[in-house]
Amino acid sequence: MTEMRKVVAVVGGGYAGTLIATELDHEARVVLVDPRDAFVNVAGSLRALARPDWAPQVFFPYRTLLEHGQVIRDRASSVDPAGVMLAGGGRIDADYLVLATGSSYPYPARPRRMATSAAQALSELRATHDQLARAERVLILGAGPVGLELAGEVREVWAHKRLVILDQAAEVLPGFLPEVRRALRRQLDELGIDLRTGTYLTSLPPTADGTAGTFVVSTVGGEKITADIWFRSFGVHLNTSYLADGNLVQLTDGAAVPVDEHLNVVGHDHAYAVGDIADLADAKMASHAQTQALVVVENIRAQLAGGRPRSSYQPGSVPRILLPLGTSGGVGQLPTPDGGAAAAPLATVIQRKGADLFTSRFVQRFDRSLA
Ligand SMILES: Cc1cc2nc3c(=O)[nH]c(=O)nc-3n(C[C@H](O)[C@H](O)[C@H](O)COP(=O)(O)OP(=O)(O)OC[C@H]3O[C@@H](n4cnc5c(N)ncnc54)[C@H](O)[C@@H]3O)c2cc1C
Repeated sequence: MTEMRKVVAVVGGGYAGTLIATELDHEARVVLVDPRDAFVNVAGSLRALARPDWAPQVFFPYRTLLEHGQVIRDRASSVDPAGVMLAGGGRIDADYLVLATGSSYPYPARPRRMATSAAQALSELRATHDQLARAERVLILGAGPVGLELAGEVREVWAHKRLVILDQAAEVLPGFLPEVRRALRRQLDELGIDLRTGTYLTSLPPTADGTAGTFVVSTVGGEKITADIWFRSFGVHLNTSYLADGNLVQLTDGAAVPVDEHLNVVGHDHAYAVGDIADLADAKMASHAQTQALVVVENIRAQLAGGRPRSSYQPGSVPRILLPLGTSGGVGQLPTPDGGAAAAPLATVIQRKGADLFTSRFVQRFDRSLA
């Protein structure tokens, strides 16, 4: 019976890929490909840096994900309409393809590309933690959610370190409600986190990021900043180089995968793309990636039953965010039923994200006995 099942190849075991793989595990022959040995709950990366004792909670070994399907530890090197070529030399012939390879972000917000085992990633986080512990003055370049959350996690562990965040944008969290931005600024002040917007450095610090070593840098305005360590909180890029050969589709100018409203890769009704790599208008977020994942699940289910993809995805028009500053602070903005947006109460930010950074949700996804 099992041999008759259609093969669904899922490329990338992140937020979207793991959800699609588990949902279809009982209906199709799922083959998930990822170079890592464990799913990384990226939302927890910054706490993992500040608190090595907590860090193992960010990694969920793939071996507990699927009951029937298979996880192959490899990297896709090319994809064509009939299957996936693997960097290790193998090939997966597939009836359905799901591309979910996400994006890369400078360490420590995501593990380094070469640190593909959880053990290796944990040991790098531990080493960077030790560098950070020695540094009294911390400079964070980039005041997006990652830079801000990093500052919050560092402050929670080290009450007295000097923390400066720099961003060239004139305002923090552009596009969010003024009251959310004001609350953020107020909390940063209370935490003694020095946020400087509308400025940038004349050149990057001379030391490697995440490595202790005192340096002095200048801003374009002529200010001097002395610090003992710095972190890079900017510079995301999409993991789509394996598609650059055009064997499946022509990528957009921004290296994203063009998709239609069913999340089919344009021109292929048996191939789908989801999450950060999909050329969609909404912000690159795990929450959107997982909503998209469920659309793909419905569409593949319909096709497995002999129908056509019917479920469609509409990118949200209201920006949303949960931005904890450690376990007891932070701000948020969530959609309201009337289609608007409202500031999220602190208790909501803590309960929905700050307390455990989504750990419990993935404990469930990765423990088949709870399913
Ligand atoms: C520090 C931080 C905090 C964040 N917090 C939040 C948050 O609170 N809420 C939120 O909604 N979003 C958050 N985000 C954004 C969120 O992490 C991304 O939007 C999300 O990871 C995208 O999910 P995805 O499924 O598209 O891909 P990912 O989760 O990035 O997974 C992609 C997977 O593909 C694998 N892969 C890459 N290349 C290949 C290849 N060639 N072959 C096979 N596999 C490959 C990777 O190893 C990885 O496992 C945060 C991001 C960062 C950096």
